Amino acid sequence: MTSATPLPLYAIGLGSNRRHARFGDPRRILLAALDALEGDDIEPVDVSPIITSDPIGPSLRRYANAVALVASPLAPFEMLERLQEIEAEFGRRSGQRWSARTLDLDILLWSGGAWSAPDLTIPHPAMTSRAFVLGPLRAIAPDWRHPLSARTVRQMAARLIRPKPVDRNAEAH
Ligand code: ATP
Ligand code: CA
Ligand code: CA
Repeated sequence: MTSATPLPLYAIGLGSNRRHARFGDPRRILLAALDALEGDDIEPVDVSPIITSDPIGPSLRRYANAVALVASPLAPFEMLERLQEIEAEFGRRSGQRWSARTLDLDILLWSGGAWSAPDLTIPHPAMTSRAFVLGPLRAIAPDWRHPLSARTVRQMAARLIRPKPVDRNAEAH
């Protein structure tokens, strides 16, 4: 297809912290999810390395995260619907917020800018504080600017790893 107007771009965050009977460990689940994401209306543009982490805290689960850039004519609410269908195909049950889940797909950024609705906020409100989002995103879209703060992904990632300024008055003498 050729078109004078480039298709909107989305940055999609992928996460998994649970094995899947057929696909296997979280890393393999993300690879399968990247395949599932590609479709008539969703064209893959780039994908970050998949980062895998040891679990923090009492959970023994490992998790995997990645970010994909896709081009799509879908409106944000249509994209969310599509992502939720894919999550369901991977056996995600509803009511699993923050708990173990097979697949979590979030809309992080959209080239159209900001979107605010009761069930959809773009940019994803937590993206600026999550290393497992900004790390992979920086690998593929370092210059993408947050539409509200105007900071680039590179700048947001740098803010995250830079130690907080020391409050000198609070230092012990
Ligand atoms: P978090 O949002 O902190 O990453 P989560 O991904 O675990 O948490 P979910 O249970 O997957 O949360 O989603 C809860 C709801 O968040 C979804 O039903 C969806 O309507 C809403 N939502 C709002 N903004 C977004 C977004 N940018 N991408 C995906 N879902 C969103
Ligand atoms: Ca999430
Ligand atoms: Ca989600």
